[in-house]
Amino acid sequence: MKNKINQAHANIDQNAQKLTEVSHKIWGYAELSLKEHLSAKALMDILQAEGFAIESNLCGMETAFLGSFGQGRPIIGILGEFDALAGLSQKATSIKKEPLVPGGNGHGCGHNMLGAGSLGAAIAVKEYLKNSGKEGTVIYYGCPGEESVGSKSYFARDKVWENLDAALTWHPSCVNEVQGWSSLSCIQHIYTFHGTSSHAAAAPEKGRSALDAVELMNIGIQFLREHMPDTARIHYAIIDTGGESPNVVQPQASVVYMVRDHQVHEALQLQKRVDAIAQGAALMTGTKVSIQFKDALSNTVLNDTLSKVMNDCLQGLEPIQYTEDEIDFAKSLIASLEHPPTGTPGTLSKHFPDIKKWVEEVSDSGKMPLNTFYMPYKQISYVMPGSTDVGDVSWQTPTAQANIVCYPAHTPGHSWQIVSCGASSIGDKGMIQAAKLLASTAITLFEKPELLAKAKKEFDQTLKGKYVCPVPEDAVPKPVN
Ligand SMILES: [Zn+2]
Repeated sequence: MKNKINQAHANIDQNAQKLTEVSHKIWGYAELSLKEHLSAKALMDILQAEGFAIESNLCGMETAFLGSFGQGRPIIGILGEFDALAGLSQKATSIKKEPLVPGGNGHGCGHNMLGAGSLGAAIAVKEYLKNSGKEGTVIYYGCPGEESVGSKSYFARDKVWENLDAALTWHPSCVNEVQGWSSLSCIQHIYTFHGTSSHAAAAPEKGRSALDAVELMNIGIQFLREHMPDTARIHYAIIDTGGESPNVVQPQASVVYMVRDHQVHEALQLQKRVDAIAQGAALMTGTKVSIQFKDALSNTVLNDTLSKVMNDCLQGLEPIQYTEDEIDFAKSLIASLEHPPTGTPGTLSKHFPDIKKWVEEVSDSGKMPLNTFYMPYKQISYVMPGSTDVGDVSWQTPTAQANIVCYPAHTPGHSWQIVSCGASSIGDKGMIQAAKLLASTAITLFEKPELLAKAKKEFDQTLKGKYVCPVPEDAVPKPVN
């Protein structure tokens, strides 16, 4: 098996230039959620040239696609993303905030690398299937709009992931690790209140204020916060106050609510209470409320068996070597941070003494700004205080995901520093390393079906038949910007 994995790694090295080019291309396109037409085409063109069967326009999303190769089972899915973020345009390899296009978009979450790295893995696995004559299928899933739509949740609504034997993915990061924890479920709705406009002084009795309704809803939620589980969070933003004139009773106003909890079914229950408060606010103010679904992501459920397989593959990879120039670049990026690193490790790092030591070292001396070692894998009860649509995949098939270094320590998510690294040799090296990790994990699963059976058994015992999709049947995925 080692030989087959080495061949896959050699294939990825041979394709490194092509993968780097497509990563940089997508970085340059910097297309927002569900508008990633050029990025999706760039990935599909390569898949097609490599002999994958393409299906596009999936689950009602023009930029969602898949590339499939092979026959029969097992079927292993490799997930790719490629959407950018608004307002984060930034020149590559720059150590200061310097937009490439003023006001433009940028890959502040590194999804250009995510899409290209997963592509490299899918191609290497395809070569393995072709050369070995093994029965089995590899499918690259082009998942658009991770940032504000959550396309994988729509895939889940259509039961796409149920067809897989396993799903593998990764994310650019400042640490090398296989994730041993969960993420929060998150559900967003927009509440728009419809009232009646009138002169606030001359005819106040004729007015029904939508802004009053928003305020009363916010107060109601404040009281709800005392009576919800400790694990839950409710955030909001008023997105339409109804106008700037105090002397006009506001006829329409909108507020967006984000409901989070550890488990998706808990978040859905809490969501119903938020809806009821909105109805109450409408009743109190004589307005009407319309509730519009925005997006919904389930919590991630770890598959320990699959994550251990991925971790064994990670530990077997040659660590990335960095040049002096790359280390200097990384140090300069850390120096550019608005809030200098304090060396105080976060919640997660208390579980991992290695990273605690390293984070402190970077902060104190700036000695080695890039994580070159591998974190040990550990299943912990920690829930990352964020959300990802990989969560919905993990409810439908055994799923494992890794973080691979593509930028220096302390780099905040969704920052210009990540955009700067996204088309640099540091990002390129991380993207190639991730391709190797996903490819070796998939090949291990094809070679050792007993591992897949064990992962499946674990999944069946904990999750089978328990998934409640948080995306309503009638919700339509659409761009938000
Ligand atoms: Zn991301």
